[in-house]
Amino acid sequence: MPYCPNCGATVTDDQQKCESCGTRLIEKEKKEGFFGFLFFGIIALFIPILGYILAALMKISRPKTRKFTLIVSTVGLLLWLALILIIVYIGLDLLIQILGGTILFF
Ligand SMILES: [Zn+2]
Repeated sequence: MPYCPNCGATVTDDQQKCESCGTRLIEKEKKEGFFGFLFFGIIALFIPILGYILAALMKISRPKTRKFTLIVSTVGLLLWLALILIIVYIGLDLLIQILGGTILFF
């Protein structure tokens, strides 16, 4: 059974608001989705970084492969930036929900 983050009362998963204090409860899936994205975002950052390191190492030995690695790394980096925007968007949405619950009822 989950608990209300504000007053500690027992709440059900499908409840939108805490019955005893009125705090808005954030949907569990949304919160989990956010942390999932955040985790993926951190992991995804290693791909372009690794690519750039590889490209730097290939500087002298393999100029053609190096160019390809640089392109792949840059695409990876752009995809990562798009992912960060999604994370910020979901994060702000969660923050508004948290603040909204606090301001509205206190
Ligand atoms: Zn409560």
